[in-house]
Amino acid sequence: LLLLGIETTCDETAAAVVRRRADGTGTILSNIVHSQTEDHAAYGGVVPEIASRAHVEILDHVIARALRASGLALAELDGIAAAAGPGLIGGVIVGLTTAKALALATRKPLIAVNHLEAHALTARLTDKVPFPFLLLLVSGGHTQLVAVTGIGEYAKLGGTMDDAIGEAFDKTAKMLGLPYPGGPAVERAALKGDPGRFALPRPLHGKPVPDFSLSGLKTAVRIEALKIAPLSEEDVNDLCASFQAAIVDILSDRVRCALRVMRQKGLKPSALVLAGGVGANQAVRRVLHKVAADGGTRLAVPPPELCTDNGAMIAWAGAERLARGLHDGLDVSPRARWPLAEVEAKGAAVGA
Ligand code: ATP
Ligand code: MG
Ligand code: FE
Repeated sequence: LLLLGIETTCDETAAAVVRRRADGTGTILSNIVHSQTEDHAAYGGVVPEIASRAHVEILDHVIARALRASGLALAELDGIAAAAGPGLIGGVIVGLTTAKALALATRKPLIAVNHLEAHALTARLTDKVPFPFLLLLVSGGHTQLVAVTGIGEYAKLGGTMDDAIGEAFDKTAKMLGLPYPGGPAVERAALKGDPGRFALPRPLHGKPVPDFSLSGLKTAVRIEALKIAPLSEEDVNDLCASFQAAIVDILSDRVRCALRVMRQKGLKPSALVLAGGVGANQAVRRVLHKVAADGGTRLAVPPPELCTDNGAMIAWAGAERLARGLHDGLDVSPRARWPLAEVEAKGAAVGA
């Protein structure tokens, strides 16, 4: 199957063409990501109205580039996939409406993809990961541990009670005067810092349910920063290193807990799948390799550029669904909120 995938839920305007073979393996034929980082940098975060306008202006161009780079014509595709949520609603409307127009004009099936499901399934494009697997989804808006037993079968084991981990990276960066987006900036600073200088909390450590709480950690960074202000570059590096060390500890403890919970449910995960933008962080990847091995499984994680938002993950999720006969009608609605647990795999094979 050959799928076009469109991603516009946040501040990346992205399109890609992906092939999925009958044996479940996949190849990326093209993957174009236009990041709007510069449009939002001055505001220290994503401005929804600026994002939707930028998607409108550039999406056609990004799709044309993705098609050209794939060497395929629209007529050769088997389906058109777009992220239908969750995300900033203006952007979602732009991507989904464009996909509907293309599906209508080409008479190809439309696949309305859940952005989180796309993050979750990316590891099956870059690696061999049969069901069931344990998913750690850590992105800008989400932090969850999920037992994945099939397409559309997502049982949440735990999640965050306040901030997402990506959000904690972004807010910490902003607090310390580092550029947006915060994750990569904090990671770079942490490399030069002393992780032992500040004693920061590890909330919920040892708790039997694999939930997260990040707001206390964020506040602790703020308090330490205020104590020693004005901050030197060394202070910032040490705060970043201490913050990242706390995140790494929190993630290993909570994932160990989730692996136990999964085993108690009688499920043996084929892998621990790391997904979402925070999965691009090398310290996080390193520690989770070890945690997975200790737990009798292995870490499966896409390359960093497929952890952050992209079109290939949407095209791939669309292909996984279409391969099972799942597609959507042209009346499908964009959704600002769309939890993974509400993604369906049955009864959707109707319409266009
Ligand atoms: P969601 O997927 O929840 O809707 P999103 O699409 O904005 O949110 P992603 O693009 O998946 O999120 O990830 C972006 C997040 O990942 C940002 O919070 C960013 O700071 C974080 N991130 C990116 N690279 C790194 C890194 N190297 N280290 C830590 N965090 C990172
Ligand atoms: Mg982004
Ligand atoms: Fe995302």
